[in-house]
Amino acid sequence: MMTPLTLVHDFPQNTWQTALQQAIRDPAILLKQLDLPLSLLNQVYNPARFALRVPQGYVARMRKADPHDPLLRQVLPLVAEQENIAGFVLDPVGDHIAEKHAGLLHKYQGRVLLVTTGACAIHCRYCFRQHFAYGDAHPLQSPAVWDYLQRHTDIKEVILSGGDPLTLSDKRLTDCIQRLASLSHIQRLRIHSRLPVVLPERITPELLQLLTQSRLQPVLVIHSNHPNELDTTVVTALKQLADAGISLLNQAVLLKGVNDNIATLVQLSEALFQARVMPYYLNLLDRTQGTAHFEVNLSTAQHLLEGLRRQLSGYLVPKLVQEIAGAPYKVPV
Ligand SMILES: *Cc1c(COP(=O)(O)O)cnc(C)c1O
Ligand code: SF4
Repeated sequence: MMTPLTLVHDFPQNTWQTALQQAIRDPAILLKQLDLPLSLLNQVYNPARFALRVPQGYVARMRKADPHDPLLRQVLPLVAEQENIAGFVLDPVGDHIAEKHAGLLHKYQGRVLLVTTGACAIHCRYCFRQHFAYGDAHPLQSPAVWDYLQRHTDIKEVILSGGDPLTLSDKRLTDCIQRLASLSHIQRLRIHSRLPVVLPERITPELLQLLTQSRLQPVLVIHSNHPNELDTTVVTALKQLADAGISLLNQAVLLKGVNDNIATLVQLSEALFQARVMPYYLNLLDRTQGTAHFEVNLSTAQHLLEGLRRQLSGYLVPKLVQEIAGAPYKVPV
């Protein structure tokens, strides 16, 4: 047998990794770039808890000199985060109870979620994972996790999540996928990632290849909340993913001051579909400590959904859902 020719090029500074490293971490620099006054800075902001992080390419899609820009609002730490509001807790979705082994969450029948990393390219201020302490886990190397996946032959789909699994190196992803593909009951590989939207440089030919070369059927669930996030760099990356045969879905979070109006949500669905992505979920905010200022109440959410149903083709209307700790699926509301 011929040994296949392998090109060993291990660039220490791939474009996407450089873009990741160069993400803005200083609120003052962010405001200066956007021609916004430093007085917007949150004086009690504590970077040790959940630091600002936002890639340059994402900042480029923000409107200058607009403190209410919907993309800025998703990343800028506000004083309101420090308020303690009753009902907003550290683990609103019951992840700790569902964690069967370190890094393995089994909540729903037929699918499990693996926390493959704690790292993200962007820090979304509404995120329910901001209070979790993640190690740099490789759950598939844990004998307990591996044993669990082997024994539970009803698991058909494994979700790589985090953090953001596409912050992992190609080598690490390939290793995860190969291990999963060796379990014959697993049929689908699902990846939950915001990188195609916030760091489209990540969608390289190598990534497309590693996602499509195993026998597992690939599904990528992206996370976009606003049509302004989908510029031409993102649309190009999404079309490449679709052309490679990867099913693309979007989940959004309904966020006050970001996308809580019918026109924005209609545009989001239409822009997603143009980029070959199907709207999947519109999630009500998880009631995480420090995020109350993002909450849209249930009756407003239902009114918005009604508006979407009137204006959009049925397949462009996302499912409005809420995650309820202990429920057997994401609950339609
Ligand atoms: C959201 C979630 C899933 C996926 O649920 P779907 O409704 O299939 O998208 C799976 N496992 C966990 C732990 C989740 O939180
Ligand atoms: S990318 Fe996802 S996991 Fe990371 S901070 Fe944003 S919402 Fe949370």
